Amino acid sequence: MLNRRLEGFGTTIFAEMSNLAQRTGAINLGQGFPDTDGPPQIAEAAVRAIRDGRGNQYPPGNGVPELRQAIAEHQQRRYGLSFDPDSEVLVTAGATEAIAASMLALLEPGDEVIAFEPFYDSYAACIAMAGATRVPLTLRAPDFRPDLDALADAVTSRTRLLLLNSPHNPTGMVLTRDELAAIADLAVARDLLVVTDEVYEHLVFDGEHLPLSALPGMGDRTVCISSAGKTFSFTGWKVGWMTAAADLIAAVRTAKQFLTYVNAGPFQYAIAEALRLPDAYFAEFCRDLQSKRDLLSAGLAAAGFEVYRPQGTYFITTDVTPLGETDGFAFCRSLPERCGVVAVPNAVFYDSPESGRTQVRFAFCKRNQVLQEAVDRLGAL
Ligand code: PMP
Ligand code: GLN
Repeated sequence: MLNRRLEGFGTTIFAEMSNLAQRTGAINLGQGFPDTDGPPQIAEAAVRAIRDGRGNQYPPGNGVPELRQAIAEHQQRRYGLSFDPDSEVLVTAGATEAIAASMLALLEPGDEVIAFEPFYDSYAACIAMAGATRVPLTLRAPDFRPDLDALADAVTSRTRLLLLNSPHNPTGMVLTRDELAAIADLAVARDLLVVTDEVYEHLVFDGEHLPLSALPGMGDRTVCISSAGKTFSFTGWKVGWMTAAADLIAAVRTAKQFLTYVNAGPFQYAIAEALRLPDAYFAEFCRDLQSKRDLLSAGLAAAGFEVYRPQGTYFITTDVTPLGETDGFAFCRSLPERCGVVAVPNAVFYDSPESGRTQVRFAFCKRNQVLQEAVDRLGAL
């Protein structure tokens, strides 16, 4: 029944592995969601919005004005970037819809999209749904830095768009200022659009997050995507957004209005409050996740994994070769039975699965005692 564009896209690995965790009662370090909800006062703000009748009916197609204003203020306060909340901000059903609507709105069938693999699983599916062709460039262990010469060589007359992700899921790589500058120069020289997925913008432990839109020449050609799910630990609310020049926002909104039209009315008011939390919230959230990264990295290393320490995100990519394993998929499928832990095989994030065959990803956005218990179990391998 499934059409040719979606051939080969089965159930997502996150659903498969969360099911496995539920069936076996294993500790779920697979799908990336926190096991502690975000700030209680933000949850209260959502309850209040529902009680007060704010957002219970269809909100405006662009998102409620309070949230668009708060997003514009956040971009100004954090990065010194100015966006007009009425024409240059669009609220979406998570970053997922922002990515999908961007691909559907900006690509012609046959256009080429360059993306660094391993990539987040929805990228390939959204490029395929748009009838475009993806051109993967492989990030390689141990540090997963992009090969910028290969990137320049990969651009052809059919390349329309670069789809970037920094901080990068699943490797935790964070693009440096120099790398971003080189990418920006290329985009300008070859007249490319860039869609940047920056959902982990607040989770950088080593280095700094710099939005690509801040670089010279990029303001008019960059769609910048983020999500409240990651920054405020409310992944189920599915509040995401994009900032971009007005013509790009108008194009993407055309697709977006026929996908969901709108979503998450009352939650949008609550996230407007969340974005205005003091800097201390963001700093503390990041510090907390950093200590979890360190706890799980050390535990995985002690258990015999090769650990590629992430600079950002809440994921650690490992290699299971030192454990005598040769296949990350088989390893992850057997892990619940062997020691009661669930992880995700990185091979699913590659067009060339061979490049990631022995890589396995662990999420550390979990309570310390859960991480400690997982580490103890993995140590028995
Ligand atoms: N992009 C990346 C890189 C992600 O890891 C995720 C995972 N949540 C998303 C997009 C989707 O975000 P959302 O839940 O806001 O749709
Ligand atoms: N982004 C999350 C991850 O990488 C999962 C999101 C999802 O389940 N689609 O684990």
